[in-house]
Amino acid sequence: MNNCFILLAAGSGDRFKSKIPKQFTFYKGKMMYEHSIDKAIKSKMFKNIVLVIQKSHFKFVKKHKKVKIIIGGSHRHVSSKNALNFVKKFNPRNVFIHDAARPNFTIKLLKNLNRNLKKFSTVVPYILPNDSVKYKTNKIYNLEKKNLKLMQTPQCFNFKYIHKLSNNNKRKIEDECTLSIENNNEIKFIKGEENNIKITYLKDKKLNEINYGLGFDVHRLKKGKKLFLGGLMVKSKYGTLGHSDGDPVLHSITDAILGACGLNDIGQKFSNKNKKFKNIRSTILLKEVINEINSKNFFINNIDLNIICETPKIAPIKRKIIKIISKLCNISEEKINIKGKTTEKLGIIGKEKAIACESIVSVTKYV
Ligand code: ZN
Repeated sequence: MNNCFILLAAGSGDRFKSKIPKQFTFYKGKMMYEHSIDKAIKSKMFKNIVLVIQKSHFKFVKKHKKVKIIIGGSHRHVSSKNALNFVKKFNPRNVFIHDAARPNFTIKLLKNLNRNLKKFSTVVPYILPNDSVKYKTNKIYNLEKKNLKLMQTPQCFNFKYIHKLSNNNKRKIEDECTLSIENNNEIKFIKGEENNIKITYLKDKKLNEINYGLGFDVHRLKKGKKLFLGGLMVKSKYGTLGHSDGDPVLHSITDAILGACGLNDIGQKFSNKNKKFKNIRSTILLKEVINEINSKNFFINNIDLNIICETPKIAPIKRKIIKIISKLCNISEEKINIKGKTTEKLGIIGKEKAIACESIVSVTKYV
């Protein structure tokens, strides 16, 4: 079908407080605007894809043979008008107009919009507000939430219809369906997507960002000492030597968590020169770190561990360790994975002189 995807990326994003306009900053592994372009290409629904930018944005944009780049205007209505005039020569049947600041829509949404374009000349996704809304002019009005619709993009139109309305319009508009509404057109509203938020402030961008931290620890083993692994006291002829209880699993996790949150390391936080931490249980240290990161709004997503030793066998004690870590870290047991490894009798670990643990932790900071 002769559809056209127009991506509006000509904004300067003043509210975003970044030197680079937000649509060209990195978001989930690529530039924000690229998410929309890539999904439009992947959907195979569009004969033409047009990116609308400012002249000064060329230095940010990657050339792509499937994407035509044009220059927009100082306001949204000028940018979309320029784009609609540009695509006229392709004689498209429908156009999808999308904001580059909404990178999280799905291809499923595109398909749903397209289905509805068979019957309607304007199709727009919406979500319902969670907050109650008042309308204030010189008087304040109560508005009923169930009758309110928050508009999202892509907003989709029969090309000829919106092209005409756009060319007749001289005013600033917040979105293109404003023109359909003012023209008394029948608009098909379809359910939008909660994740399809407009990224306006820097905090929106950080909302779903995940950070990773790596941890490693090794302790010597000695006969007659106690052995703690992942907070569990394990029966064994060998135990670990250490300033605290010498639990390599919890130390490794603690370090990984601190790393993920950019908070240095366990040695700096709980110095082995400090008598206070002599023989202290590592469960206490980890809990303290969890309280600290939670108070800074970091929360753990998942933990993956390799416990490296000849003895004890990890498989029989795995579930118990997972239960302890789950309680300490405030995450569900399914989000913790433990692998028992040996070193094939090689090296100091193979000769049962040491036990090691490596870990990776992912955290999200909520704002
Ligand atoms: Zn340690």
